[in-house]
Amino acid sequence: MTKCYLCEQGTLIRKKVPYNLYGVYVDDFDAEVCSQCGEEFFDEQTSQKITEKVKKKGLWGLSAKTKIGRVGSTLDIRFPKRLIQFLGLKKGGEVTVYPEDKKKIVIEI
Ligand SMILES: [Zn+2]
Repeated sequence: MTKCYLCEQGTLIRKKVPYNLYGVYVDDFDAEVCSQCGEEFFDEQTSQKITEKVKKKGLWGLSAKTKIGRVGSTLDIRFPKRLIQFLGLKKGGEVTVYPEDKKKIVIEI
Protein backbone atom coordinates (compact mmCIF):
# COMPACT_ATOMS: atom_id res chain seq x y z
CA MET A 1 0.00 0.00 0.00
CA THR A 2 1.15 3.48 -0.79
CA LYS A 3 1.76 5.90 2.07
CA CYS A 4 0.37 9.42 1.86
CA TYR A 5 2.79 11.83 0.14
CA LEU A 6 1.73 14.64 2.46
CA CYS A 7 1.33 13.36 6.03
CA GLU A 8 3.26 10.09 5.46
CA GLN A 9 0.93 8.43 8.01
CA GLY A 10 -2.18 7.25 6.18
CA THR A 11 -2.51 4.90 3.24
CA LEU A 12 -3.90 5.92 -0.13
CA ILE A 13 -7.22 4.48 -1.26
CA ARG A 14 -8.44 4.79 -4.87
CA LYS A 15 -11.89 6.27 -5.25
CA LYS A 16 -13.92 8.80 -7.22
CA VAL A 17 -14.15 12.19 -5.58
CA PRO A 18 -16.16 15.30 -6.49
CA TYR A 19 -13.99 18.14 -7.79
CA ASN A 20 -15.07 21.74 -7.23
CA LEU A 21 -13.44 24.93 -8.43
CA TYR A 22 -14.48 28.43 -7.31
CA GLY A 23 -17.53 26.86 -5.69
CA VAL A 24 -18.67 25.24 -8.94
CA TYR A 25 -18.99 21.43 -9.20
CA VAL A 26 -16.85 20.24 -12.13
CA ASP A 27 -17.26 16.41 -12.06
CA ASP A 28 -16.23 13.26 -10.16
CA PHE A 29 -12.65 12.12 -10.81
CA ASP A 30 -10.46 9.13 -9.87
CA ALA A 31 -8.13 10.01 -7.03
CA GLU A 32 -5.97 8.47 -4.33
CA VAL A 33 -7.35 9.65 -0.99
CA CYS A 34 -5.39 9.50 2.27
CA SER A 35 -7.07 7.48 5.04
CA GLN A 36 -5.51 9.78 7.65
CA CYS A 37 -5.47 13.42 6.48
CA GLY A 38 -8.03 13.12 3.64
CA GLU A 39 -5.72 14.76 1.07
CA GLU A 40 -6.66 13.89 -2.53
CA PHE A 41 -4.04 13.14 -5.18
CA PHE A 42 -4.72 13.06 -8.92
CA ASP A 43 -2.42 11.40 -11.45
CA GLU A 44 -1.18 13.19 -14.57
CA GLN A 45 -3.88 11.76 -16.84
CA THR A 46 -6.68 12.73 -14.44
CA SER A 47 -5.19 16.20 -14.02
CA GLN A 48 -5.43 16.66 -17.80
CA LYS A 49 -9.08 15.52 -17.74
CA ILE A 50 -9.79 18.00 -14.94
CA THR A 51 -8.17 20.81 -16.93
CA GLU A 52 -10.30 19.96 -20.01
CA LYS A 53 -13.54 19.93 -17.99
CA VAL A 54 -12.59 23.15 -16.19
CA LYS A 55 -12.03 24.83 -19.59
CA LYS A 56 -15.38 23.51 -20.91
CA LYS A 57 -17.17 24.94 -17.88
CA GLY A 58 -15.59 28.37 -18.47
CA LEU A 59 -13.67 28.27 -15.18
CA TRP A 60 -10.23 28.43 -16.80
CA GLY A 61 -8.17 31.57 -16.43
CA LEU A 62 -10.23 33.20 -13.67
CA SER A 63 -7.09 33.65 -11.63
CA ALA A 64 -5.05 36.46 -13.20
CA LYS A 65 -2.60 39.17 -12.31
CA THR A 66 -3.87 42.73 -12.34
CA LYS A 67 -2.32 46.10 -11.56
CA ILE A 68 -3.25 48.58 -8.87
CA GLY A 69 -4.17 51.96 -10.35
CA ARG A 70 -4.66 55.39 -8.82
CA VAL A 71 -7.77 57.59 -8.87
CA GLY A 72 -7.18 60.85 -7.01
CA SER A 73 -6.07 59.90 -3.51
CA THR A 74 -7.40 56.34 -3.63
CA LEU A 75 -6.23 53.19 -5.38
CA ASP A 76 -8.29 50.94 -7.60
CA ILE A 77 -7.93 47.43 -8.92
CA ARG A 78 -9.06 46.42 -12.40
CA PHE A 79 -10.81 43.08 -12.70
CA PRO A 80 -10.13 40.92 -15.74
CA LYS A 81 -13.09 40.52 -18.12
CA ARG A 82 -13.44 36.77 -17.49
CA LEU A 83 -13.77 37.39 -13.74
CA ILE A 84 -16.36 40.14 -14.31
CA GLN A 85 -18.44 37.77 -16.44
CA PHE A 86 -18.08 34.85 -14.01
CA LEU A 87 -19.17 36.96 -11.03
CA GLY A 88 -21.69 39.06 -12.94
CA LEU A 89 -20.15 42.31 -11.71
CA LYS A 90 -21.62 45.64 -12.87
CA LYS A 91 -20.34 49.21 -12.73
CA GLY A 92 -21.86 50.92 -9.71
CA GLY A 93 -22.44 47.62 -7.91
CA GLU A 94 -21.53 47.59 -4.24
CA VAL A 95 -19.01 45.25 -2.60
CA THR A 96 -17.47 44.96 0.86
CA VAL A 97 -13.69 44.89 1.06
CA TYR A 98 -11.54 43.81 4.00
CA PRO A 99 -8.13 42.26 4.62
CA GLU A 100 -8.01 38.57 5.56
CA ASP A 101 -4.41 39.11 6.63
CA LYS A 102 -1.50 41.27 5.39
CA LYS A 103 -1.32 39.37 2.08
CA LYS A 104 -4.94 38.68 1.14
CA ILE A 105 -7.97 40.88 0.45
CA VAL A 106 -11.54 39.58 0.55
CA ILE A 107 -14.15 41.22 -1.69
CA GLU A 108 -17.69 40.20 -0.85
CA ILE A 109 -20.39 40.79 -3.41
ZN1 LIG B 1 -2.19 11.97 4.54
